[in-house]
Amino acid sequence: MSLQTTGIHHITAFARNPQENVDFYAGVLGLRLVKKTINFDAPEVYHLYFGNETGSPGTIITFFPWPASRKGRVGGGQVGITTFAVPEGTLGFWEARLSSFKVPVTHASRFGESFLQFTDHEGMRLELVERSEGAASTWSFGGIPSDHAIKGFGGAVLFSTNAAKTMEVLEHVLGLAREAEDAGYVRFRAAGDTGSVVDIDSSDLEWGAGGAGTVHHIAWRAADFAQHEQWRSAVAEHGYQPTAIIDRQYFNAIYFRESGGILFEIATDPPGFANDEEADALGHQLMLPEWLESKRPQIEANLLPIQVRELEVN
Ligand code: ZN
Repeated sequence: MSLQTTGIHHITAFARNPQENVDFYAGVLGLRLVKKTINFDAPEVYHLYFGNETGSPGTIITFFPWPASRKGRVGGGQVGITTFAVPEGTLGFWEARLSSFKVPVTHASRFGESFLQFTDHEGMRLELVERSEGAASTWSFGGIPSDHAIKGFGGAVLFSTNAAKTMEVLEHVLGLAREAEDAGYVRFRAAGDTGSVVDIDSSDLEWGAGGAGTVHHIAWRAADFAQHEQWRSAVAEHGYQPTAIIDRQYFNAIYFRESGGILFEIATDPPGFANDEEADALGHQLMLPEWLESKRPQIEANLLPIQVRELEVN
């Protein structure tokens, strides 16, 4: 039987100032900073993970904030819009909240659903949609009651340079079901209930440029380590060139670039973010993998200090 991902595991993007990044995703959107670590491939750069109370797969947005980063351009070969799901009946609350932080919002609709669209402080495109499915978050921060909190990803809107090819990967490699078409978008659905609705702009778009305000990659869920190895074989059998399996401390990863230009990752659900610190203390300390622990003083000296803080409403 062919493999089917249950949906998005995480989405990783570029930013510049790390405190502004924390202020937006924790302070304004109310997500929990579940891990403060560094880019294992570039230890002078933070890797910040935000999610629900435990950073469950399907709720995790991660950033490489680097103050000297160039500004990117959203376009083909990227996740164009990152979609968060909020509980039913809360979109009005969110519109008022975003306005109180001077975040301009616009309204859009696709497939009969209403979306509240806005950008973060770097120009990264985001949207909120009400969804009944998916577990509620139990995290409450910054005046957002937990029954209004972001549940996790609703999904994502993909911008491809070759939409037909990207749709082929979604359906035939990742095992998503092609569900509907509406006004220039095609909707795909994965089997899970969080981060499982993927819309693709069906036109072939000009290449974007990586940099602050753009998504670097989107990761899809593998249930466990054994299934992850099967995923690697399946990706290779379809003619793509997956990397070796890489230990990312909180999940194992493989990466491949699909033919529409988007960098895809497949990441394991285990072991998760309580792998190296207590669940109730997630995100407080700078966590380093064992092989970088001896360099902690130099690494810490090179990072700007950050804190999760309640923001004052303007
Ligand atoms: Zn990743």
